[in-house]
Amino acid sequence: MLKQHYSEIIIGAGIAGLSYAYKSEADFLLIERSSQLGGSWQSRNYKNSIYEFGPNSFMNRSEGLEEMIDTIGFRDQVISHDFKKSKRYLCQNDQLKLASPSSLIFSDLLSLQAKLSVLREPFLSNESQSDDESIHDFISRRFNTELADLLGHALKGIWAGDAKMLSAQAALPFLKELEDSYGSIFAGLIKKPKAPKKQTNTLQTCSFINGMSSFCEALGTYIGEEQILRETDARLLSYDGERYLLEINSQQITCDHLILATKAYQAAEFLFLVYPNLGELLNRIYYADIELSAFTLGRNLIKPSLIKTFDAFGFINANPDSSLMGTIFSSELFPERQLERELLFTSFSRPSVAGSQSPANELSRILQAYVSTKLRVEDFKLIDQQLFKQAIPQYNIGYLSIMSQINNELPSSLKLLGNYIGGVAFKDTIKRSFALACQVKSSSARMTL
Ligand SMILES: Cc1cc2nc3c(=O)[nH]c(=O)nc-3n(C[C@H](O)[C@H](O)[C@H](O)COP(=O)(O)OP(=O)(O)OC[C@H]3O[C@@H](n4cnc5c(N)ncnc54)[C@H](O)[C@@H]3O)c2cc1C
Repeated sequence: MLKQHYSEIIIGAGIAGLSYAYKSEADFLLIERSSQLGGSWQSRNYKNSIYEFGPNSFMNRSEGLEEMIDTIGFRDQVISHDFKKSKRYLCQNDQLKLASPSSLIFSDLLSLQAKLSVLREPFLSNESQSDDESIHDFISRRFNTELADLLGHALKGIWAGDAKMLSAQAALPFLKELEDSYGSIFAGLIKKPKAPKKQTNTLQTCSFINGMSSFCEALGTYIGEEQILRETDARLLSYDGERYLLEINSQQITCDHLILATKAYQAAEFLFLVYPNLGELLNRIYYADIELSAFTLGRNLIKPSLIKTFDAFGFINANPDSSLMGTIFSSELFPERQLERELLFTSFSRPSVAGSQSPANELSRILQAYVSTKLRVEDFKLIDQQLFKQAIPQYNIGYLSIMSQINNELPSSLKLLGNYIGGVAFKDTIKRSFALACQVKSSSARMTL
């Protein structure tokens, strides 16, 4: 039974909206368009294993997430392994090469010239050509283009985007800050005072026994199903300077604060009638498409002496002409996910690369060195595939200017959450949701004093 009025209405029950609702002490209603909670957190089952069509794992140092796991009593669902033991590869010229800080120095991942550019960097002046330069330009200017290309490949695993378009200041603010404060990234990394270590436990890669999305459903139960409306689309009708008027399930409901925890273009669509300028600005935040494919490959095909290669997180593909950005070794990530007869891979690719081969084709070429027979594309059994349009926000050149205009337009009764603000990783999203929930709490407390 809906009430006539709420202090807060939260639109979107992805991790941003759920974390906000978890922290909020207000009288709120959380509205979700889909039947499931969690938005991009999508765990899927294959036999007795699980693969993710969203975030794969988390580190045991994501403070907000750790707090919620303990509070809702979900600790016994956590599975983990030592981060240092999970290898990550870079695929260069169809070869999997170990990617680690030491391999950057001691392996052939980088040429001697690129390695020397790191030593030269502290002696360069910090004159950029523009206020808002791309990551590729920034790293090329400070080091060299080979390092910029390498970082660009690594960033595909986070942004699924293009380092020549991503803004250094918006997407990697800490590196830009080092240059601004210390005149050098290398010197800044050494000189910058280190924050006192809060945690002493070893870094772990973690997930939940039933997948990442199981946590979102558990969080929903903790928040209270009576405060959540699933499969519901609300319409914003008006704002009279004090209260928002919404139409929800043919009923008219009012609220004091509106919290939009959706993707930017979804927030734009929701706001257009009442805040057309804001809607127009939000629509200018660009999102990259991503295609996810889950495959299995017979375990018996792998050379027994090389099976340990797959005891790893996966690889990022450094081939710029390929649509395949990377592959996660889903069944090998946690022992609990292993399948007896198969290996399960989840590949992520850019659907827009013209003329490139299918992920299965790419995988069969790349993994050829690890199997006993000639690998055929048919050896990879496609079990799932989905194109996610406008999936990942890109903090591209111009993004900071759009955000500053959004901030100028934003009324204090309207809050925007989600990974298009303050960091694309969900740990940043949770942090911001927590901070805004506390901010609204303290401003409401001031109003009632
Ligand atoms: C394939 C993929 C892999 C990723 N991997 C990682 C990773 O490994 N590590 C990491 O840190 N981050 C990763 N991310 C990013 C991470 O998923 C996001 O940071 C985070 O989940 C964003 O959460 P959100 O709540 O902001 O948005 P969403 O997850 O998009 O949630 C928004 C919710 O709002 C709902 N909604 C939208 N419009 C309306 C409306 N009008 N009314 C009601 N409901 C509405 C949607 O249905 C959805 O449930 C990945 C993202 C993707 C797509």
